Amino acid sequence: MFNTSSLRRLRALRDGHVRHCIKLGRMHRSWPLRFAALAFFVLGVVLNQTAPGSSRPRWYKGNLHTHTLNSDGDSTPSEVVTWYREHEYNFLLLSDHNHLTDSAGLNTVFGSVGQFLVLQGEEVTDSFNSKPIHVNAYDLATELQPRHGTSIANTIQNNVDAILAVKALPSLNHPNYGWAVTSEDLLRVQNLGLMEVYNGHPTVNNAGGGGFQSLDEMWDTLLSAGRRIKGIAVDDAHHFKKIGKEFANPGRGWIEVRAEALTASAIHAAIEQGQFYASTGVKLKDVEITATEYKLVIDPRQTEKFTTSFIGAGGKVLAKSFDTAPSYTFQRGDGYVRARVDSSFAASAWTQPAFH
Ligand SMILES: [Zn+2]
Ligand SMILES: [Zn+2]
Repeated sequence: MFNTSSLRRLRALRDGHVRHCIKLGRMHRSWPLRFAALAFFVLGVVLNQTAPGSSRPRWYKGNLHTHTLNSDGDSTPSEVVTWYREHEYNFLLLSDHNHLTDSAGLNTVFGSVGQFLVLQGEEVTDSFNSKPIHVNAYDLATELQPRHGTSIANTIQNNVDAILAVKALPSLNHPNYGWAVTSEDLLRVQNLGLMEVYNGHPTVNNAGGGGFQSLDEMWDTLLSAGRRIKGIAVDDAHHFKKIGKEFANPGRGWIEVRAEALTASAIHAAIEQGQFYASTGVKLKDVEITATEYKLVIDPRQTEKFTTSFIGAGGKVLAKSFDTAPSYTFQRGDGYVRARVDSSFAASAWTQPAFH
């Protein structure tokens, strides 16, 4: 594969030569020059196929959990989509409770190739013994109704299975909402690949307390048991008309997905493969996991400072760094390695676990 600078050099060379050849061709009309021009044209087509903006992966910012008037949100789908479109998001998934809000019409009005996309989804909203059990279905084609179950774990499992059966992606929402779901419950669930590690709703208890694990601790318990589960940050926005700490406002948690293109299938595939990080404000330029190292490049805002923690089995902090390009060399016994970046601007980013 070419890297960006060699691509740029080759393209400049090709463009210069093509221009040169066309000029000469017009003057002399000789076959060798026509052949050379054709060869460079073919090279140009090949290079453009790997050019930035076509199929080279880039970061797309999106929120996967939002409500509209189709369930308990306070605004129409158009108003909700407008907010995200105007705040430089690239994609938005409307996840109304047990209702699939159709994205086709919204994409006709608000969609823009490579810029903005509305994804279809639903918050499958179930309960067990009055404990709320909410599982988001990403990239869903037809509406699903909750499946219920015989325990917390079984209720989650039945909904996860129903979502997977229609080829959508299940994600466990706000486990500490109503103190409903513990890591012991989640250890009994199979084939769950995603969970919220941050939810912007004010009543979801992200930090745990009173003997309940924080979402970071819950995630580490699952990862330590070998579960390949990825962490998502979302808004769970309900309120667009009243703003305040006590409301579920937009703009609090999102993911940045590194995808080949801004299409439902490319975003779906990238999330499934863990090509994303979760954020409440920290921006990363790069996340690279090699055979030996876990490397980040942070994109600072003004005077922002960072503490990056590389975390392994048992939630142990393996190393800390204050650098904007922190890295960690894998050691025997790490189990897994993930990174959490905490900013002086009271924001964080969570990158996905690497098992080695
Ligand atoms: Zn919910
Ligand atoms: Zn919700």
